[in-house]
Amino acid sequence: MTCHNCQIQCRRFGKHRNGLQRYRCNQCTKTFTEAHERPLDEMRLPLDKAENVLRLLLEGMSVRSTERVTGVHRDWILRLLVLAGERCQKLMDEKLKGIDVADMERDGPRAMARKGNPPAGRKPGKNV
Ligand SMILES: [Zn+2]
Repeated sequence: MTCHNCQIQCRRFGKHRNGLQRYRCNQCTKTFTEAHERPLDEMRLPLDKAENVLRLLLEGMSVRSTERVTGVHRDWILRLLVLAGERCQKLMDEKLKGIDVADMERDGPRAMARKGNPPAGRKPGKNV
């Protein structure tokens, strides 16, 4: 952790009441806390609750049903859904590069169907 004023390395200085590491600058004696992790940006939804919401939506539960089960307002559920989608898009853009389309077809649903192991909900040999 670097002091914002002096631009020198700070020393560890106990823990904040929320468990984050505190630091103190030896020169100006100001104290700092390590940067808070905000995986959901400005959302204050607990991460386990957000995970539960997404899990229910993935299982096919409607937004209003998810609202009733989790107690999270539907507007926040939809914002969470958009955020998760944007993060997935970003992850795909970062991780999936330089893949030949022919390679994807070879390992896609048709190849699975030929092996006699079709993906759920699809008939073998049918064009997707
Ligand atoms: Zn300082």
